[in-house]
Amino acid sequence: MTPETPADDQTRNVIIIGSGPSGYTAAVYAARASLKPLVFEGSVTAGGALMNTTEVENFPGFRDGIMGPALMDEMRAQAERFGAELVTDDVVEVDLTGDIKVVRTATDTYTARSVVLAMGSGYRKLGLPGEEELSGRGVSWCATCDGFFFRDQAIAVIGGGDSAVEEATFLTRFASKVYLVHRRDELRASKIMQERAFADPKLEMVWNSEVAAINGDDRLESITLRDTVTGEQRQLDVTGLFIAIGHDPRSELLTGQVDLDDDGYVLVNHPFTTTNIPGVFAAGDLVDHHYRQAVTAAGTGCAAALDAERYIAMLD
Ligand code: FAD
Repeated sequence: MTPETPADDQTRNVIIIGSGPSGYTAAVYAARASLKPLVFEGSVTAGGALMNTTEVENFPGFRDGIMGPALMDEMRAQAERFGAELVTDDVVEVDLTGDIKVVRTATDTYTARSVVLAMGSGYRKLGLPGEEELSGRGVSWCATCDGFFFRDQAIAVIGGGDSAVEEATFLTRFASKVYLVHRRDELRASKIMQERAFADPKLEMVWNSEVAAINGDDRLESITLRDTVTGEQRQLDVTGLFIAIGHDPRSELLTGQVDLDDDGYVLVNHPFTTTNIPGVFAAGDLVDHHYRQAVTAAGTGCAAALDAERYIAMLD
């Protein structure tokens, strides 16, 4: 890449890429440290994953819960209040390797002394009609977030790996019944997790099955399952559907520059948010495939801004 490098006085202290809890929290901290951060929010998904949900009951400070989009509006307004500059556009290219980092949108080129990467990760979807519409109305990708809403109800969990089995086992705490629906006749999850699942009286395995349809108008009412061997279809009455078929970190921009793990998550030097490139920091679900919560993303966003602040102070 041969970017056009703007004059020095246009070079920012910090560019933040991403507008979920990690990006906005990094923006609040960087702005309050007088670093005048420039935040790229993304053109379609500004506000991040919580824009697609309804009630958030586990973000501290809201005893009655708060709607996901309202929480993100608050974070955005808080960042703006302290002087963060927000751009609702996608970053399409970066060159992070030099002392001056280059960040490009489709139309403009920006430079900064440091960059905070906070692009999050996307949950894999089934790609069926009704899936998006009923998100937060029975369809979920996060047992820790939403399990509590399904007390004494019947739930289906889709998937066969460690996270599907872990989510299904966790959900038996709340649900009257949990069906673990898997395309094959054996799980990919570790032996110990399988044994725990098989021993759970509330958990029933549904082998050789995939979801053919998601049914319900305002709320999920049932799913249609297709037998992967016979092709037969049947209806399963559930009010909760947890999709646990994996997630993909949004790290395509970084390939060949920032060190990633085998699954594409950014590698940082825990407990810091530093990457292999000086002046480049990473936070939130782009790094974390373990906790994946709004509050943990906000926490690492804070840490990234503090790490960036110290890095810039060392340069001055
Ligand atoms: P994200 O929230 O994913 O935000 C990243 C954002 O960065 C993207 O959306 C996009 O706007 C922007 N971006 C990405 N790439 C670019 C680019 N190239 N250029 C510009 N911008 C870009 N957690 C809880 O704690 N409680 C809950 O109740 C809860 N409910 C959830 C419900 C749903 C339906 C989902 C999907 C998740 C839920 N979570 C919940 C998880 C929580 O939303 C995530 O852990 C958190 O949002 C991660 O924050 P993040 O900042 O790392 O990334």
